[in-house]
Amino acid sequence: MSRKKLIAANWKMYKTPSEAKAFVDAFLPTVAGYTRDEIALFPSPVLLPTVIEAAKGSSVAVGAQNIYFAEEGAFTGETSILQLKAVGGTHTLIGHSERRQYFGETDEIVNKKLHTALKHGIVPVVCIGEVLAEREAGQTEQVLKTQVTGAFAGITPEAAAPIVIAYEPVWAIGTGKTATPEMAVDAHRIVRAEVAKLLGSDVASKIRILYGGSVKPDNATALCSQEEIDGALVGGASLKPDSFLAIVKY
Ligand code: PEP
Repeated sequence: MSRKKLIAANWKMYKTPSEAKAFVDAFLPTVAGYTRDEIALFPSPVLLPTVIEAAKGSSVAVGAQNIYFAEEGAFTGETSILQLKAVGGTHTLIGHSERRQYFGETDEIVNKKLHTALKHGIVPVVCIGEVLAEREAGQTEQVLKTQVTGAFAGITPEAAAPIVIAYEPVWAIGTGKTATPEMAVDAHRIVRAEVAKLLGSDVASKIRILYGGSVKPDNATALCSQEEIDGALVGGASLKPDSFLAIVKY
């Protein structure tokens, strides 16, 4: 089963609007006509209109790093999916480990956000992954199964097609430590098997599972060329156009 890979940039809480525009203006010509893989940028909410406008007419998708599960209401500081859609965003990260770690996001919240994204036709990139203590305690498999089961509660096979999963071992995010391709492939197989158990083998064979965690130009080929790895979610190395381009063109 061949799945189109997705190479995605998570800019975290970096860049001003002018820096974001400068990135897109420099990056787009370098990927013009590039069709091997999909490319997506995930800037902070305040940057979304600038980045979407700058990327208009290109094949580079733009999404949010986070959305709230309610469509609108008195939820100060949150970003609504209706707002994301209104400015032309097409994707959203859900349950990034920094959201789980610093903002208390649970599998239950991730699940509610996933339902909201699917209801509104926004491509969800659901982030999962174990922390170091869990890996060292031999709990990686159980943690991944629990996160997948929690995230996918109430999702039907018919609704699941747009979902992308990002396996991001938390100990590899922003640390410079990367999972070896073997470790990533093992984890992806566990995740795919769990999706098969929950939603059937057809959904599981089509769902894309990205790897994230200190992906850099010098390790992108080893990771992304694995059949089981359907692309990358890139943080730090996505902030400069040259570095992100080198990963995109691994
Ligand atoms: C991320 O933010 O999802 C990420 C993987 O960050 P980094 O590439 O910096 O480890």
